[in-house]
Amino acid sequence: MPRRHPWIAQPLHRKLQESAFINRQRWESKLAKDLRRKFGLNPTLILGNWSAGIVRSHAPIPGKGLRRMLLAQGFKVLHIDEFKTLTWCPYCEEGKLEKFLHVKNPRPHQQIKWPVIMSYAVLRCKNVNCEGWVKNAMTGESCPRILNRDLAACLNFRHIVTGLWEHGKVPECFMHLQRTVDADEVAPDNGSRESPDNEPPAQRRRIE
Ligand SMILES: [Zn+2]
Repeated sequence: MPRRHPWIAQPLHRKLQESAFINRQRWESKLAKDLRRKFGLNPTLILGNWSAGIVRSHAPIPGKGLRRMLLAQGFKVLHIDEFKTLTWCPYCEEGKLEKFLHVKNPRPHQQIKWPVIMSYAVLRCKNVNCEGWVKNAMTGESCPRILNRDLAACLNFRHIVTGLWEHGKVPECFMHLQRTVDADEVAPDNGSRESPDNEPPAQRRRIE
């Protein structure tokens, strides 16, 4: 008979564990049902590859477990590199998004040092010629569109998927910038540095 931890050996613990398992299964089937109701019977779901890593004082963020669950429920799941999807404006693809809203610091232990921080929740485009700019209903002046960060990421995901479908590659602005040869590690034999003109050009490359 395998040895059990004293806590697990408690009948109440086993009962709670069982009900947690049943509730999780219920939640998974409800989520699958809701997704099929909204996106059709056989949708393709596109998820970002962002990972929170080890984060203290935060609830766990569904990542690998969510993907496994969606696959087990019969969905087709695609994985997309989120690089720069919160940086570029999805409307003009030229301007960069910036934080602008000051909010009270939600972390109590940091409130003394930084009582006010910039919110990550909403962003706006820096480009004054952005197609996404809207008119202020009160003043009638043109002003930047305020974007929820998740919406901005999803719109940029759509640009990436469209780029892959139509041109077979990811738009350049969402690629990682890498040098073909690491110039810092390659020094000429005479000890002098190569001139900048001879340095290999930086290229954007998609890292899958
Ligand atoms: Zn823009």
